[in-house]
Amino acid sequence: MEDKKKVNKKLSEEHKRNIGLARLGSKGYWAGKTRPEISGENNNLWKGDKVGYSPLHRWIRKHNPMPDKCSNCNEDKKLDLANMTGIYNRESKNWKYLCRKCHLYLDGSIKNLELGRGKWY
Ligand SMILES: [Zn+2]
Repeated sequence: MEDKKKVNKKLSEEHKRNIGLARLGSKGYWAGKTRPEISGENNNLWKGDKVGYSPLHRWIRKHNPMPDKCSNCNEDKKLDLANMTGIYNRESKNWKYLCRKCHLYLDGSIKNLELGRGKWY
């Protein structure tokens, strides 16, 4: 198990480079930006959004308020919470808000690279 974890972590770093999203990881988008005062607003924005997200997704969304624009392309669109690294924990560095287009692009990239690794969600 230890070895497998190590390998996954290494792959994650490579993925970020491969798909050109490494800057998201180093940018520290949420650093100093917890902005709890707008959490309520964000909840409204998510009204009617897909159900079935895991408790982890909910936790991340609650503690990392959604920005106005996609963290990748900076477009003002409806945003999805996207896992950037394949590491599913509560560290915000593993998550970004992306528009649907960027999210699908990211998902597709990681899925292609991680074939055989198992389930994505
Ligand atoms: Zn985008």
